[in-house]
Amino acid sequence: MNELRCKVLIIGGGPGGYVAAIRAGQLGLDTILVEAGRLGGTCLNVGCIPSKALIHAADAAHSLREPQALNAIGLSIGRPELDFAKTIGWKDSIVARLTGGVGALLKKAKVRTVLGSAQIVDGKTVIAHADTGESRIEAEHLIIATGSEPAELPALPFGSDVLSSTESLALTEVPGSLAVVGAGYIGLELGIAFAKLGSRVTIVEALAKILPLYDQELTQPVARRLADLGVETLTGAKAISFAKGALKVAEADGKERTIAADKLLVAVGRRARTGGFDLEKLDLTMSGPFVRIDDQCATSMRNVWAIGDVTGEPMLAHRAMAQGEMVAEIIAGEKRAFDSVAIPAICFTDPEIVAVGLAPEAAKAAHGEIRVGRFPFRANGRAMTLQDDEGFVRVVARADNNVVLGIHAVGAGVSELSSAFSLALEMGARLEDIALTIQAHPTLGEAFHEAALTALGHSLHI
Ligand code: FAD
Ligand code: NAD
Repeated sequence: MNELRCKVLIIGGGPGGYVAAIRAGQLGLDTILVEAGRLGGTCLNVGCIPSKALIHAADAAHSLREPQALNAIGLSIGRPELDFAKTIGWKDSIVARLTGGVGALLKKAKVRTVLGSAQIVDGKTVIAHADTGESRIEAEHLIIATGSEPAELPALPFGSDVLSSTESLALTEVPGSLAVVGAGYIGLELGIAFAKLGSRVTIVEALAKILPLYDQELTQPVARRLADLGVETLTGAKAISFAKGALKVAEADGKERTIAADKLLVAVGRRARTGGFDLEKLDLTMSGPFVRIDDQCATSMRNVWAIGDVTGEPMLAHRAMAQGEMVAEIIAGEKRAFDSVAIPAICFTDPEIVAVGLAPEAAKAAHGEIRVGRFPFRANGRAMTLQDDEGFVRVVARADNNVVLGIHAVGAGVSELSSAFSLALEMGARLEDIALTIQAHPTLGEAFHEAALTALGHSLHI
């Protein structure tokens, strides 16, 4: 068996693990990264990037197949053809480019990468099982970054025509009909994309509303778009079984109904990957199904750290990356703690939703009196020129000192506003700071400025 030693050993090469490795390498720490699958983890291979590629392809296909918007600007086209296998090939080429880039960045940072599955021996020792042989790796610090995997419903086990997000992102044909269980991030992002690609989509959600994480004001425009796209959404409904292209559902009123579907996507959340690599040997304190961490991502065992999805919600790539970068810096001796004011969340639906910080209800509960300013895109010139003026920007601030507590938006392309929103919260902006910042014209960002002006009582363009 190969014997290796290092200062930092990381299990898992997803956004959490590979960023921790790159930063550790940059800081001169002798680092080994062990990855069982492919560098880039869920996010680059079967998550964020492939889903956004599919969403882009679906938007392009939809705009050609339903060309009213193009006709309105004087463009007419013939009947478009979609070669979906080629679409998936294009998506795979983006994944390959990005994962190849991660490999190169790790090499540049002098990180040793072992492609194999790690099995824990103790808090300082891991055996890596690779095709090329086994390695016993000893380290001063161990970072667990094993991520998460799709949660399965006992009545609807994955396999055959029951898909998780992973298989649904690798289909080579657009299903004629698709049923989706779960109207969360994945169910809606992919459900909308397949509807635009031509599938007849039905969504079944157990709770009373879609995207339960977001408040109704933000989700209403998405619900409207679902209806426009012909997507049927059953809320308060329970999927019971699926066989021979028929999904049995108990609707909110208790009545049973059968929905015909060529494929079924089950997207009811993800569970932490804590099994199968002897993590239990460390006897770490858990927080439910997740590894418990403190504000430095330290676990209950000295010099054992955990980052990313394995540590729980929010299961977002940018959180995993921020944690990974921080832990590497702490191991290198820097004083750091995870004290971000807010972690932005974006739902890449149509229209997109951005949420940074507190929504009005939560802000009121935490801080008492608040001011809320909204500005609709229908009064924004840029949104009109882009032919999509649905949605708004909403700013929530304390009433006593105007410190901003939350910024939200729903609309086409608003994901790109998230950086401005996050920066404002992180810098402790007051409404006046946003109001006094000159936004370029014509941009969607002007709606952010105007929402702050509205909260201050003197909007200019409404
Ligand atoms: P992962 O990315 O899951 O990586 C963990 C890695 O550890 C894997 O590569 C795995 O092979 C490896 N591993 C596990 N066990 C072992 C072992 N024993 N030995 C060696 N290696 C091991 N987040 C966003 O922020 N924005 C989005 O738009 C977004 N879209 C998504 C779309 C989909 C369809 C899905 C499924 C997820 C999406 N996410 C998105 C979530 C995002 O992918 C995760 O939050 C992120 O990948 C978590 O990173 P991680 O490093 O914690 O874990
Ligand atoms: P989710 O938690 O976003 O949504 C799951 C949905 O399924 C919820 O609405 C829930 O009420 C519903 N549900 C649960 N059990 C059900 C049942 N038996 N029948 C019907 N509905 C049921 O989970 P997801 O969509 O699977 O995504 C997993 C995670 O991946 C997310 O939490 C998020 O962290 C991450 N993700 C993020 C993005 C993004 O940032 N844009 C995109 C995709 C995934």
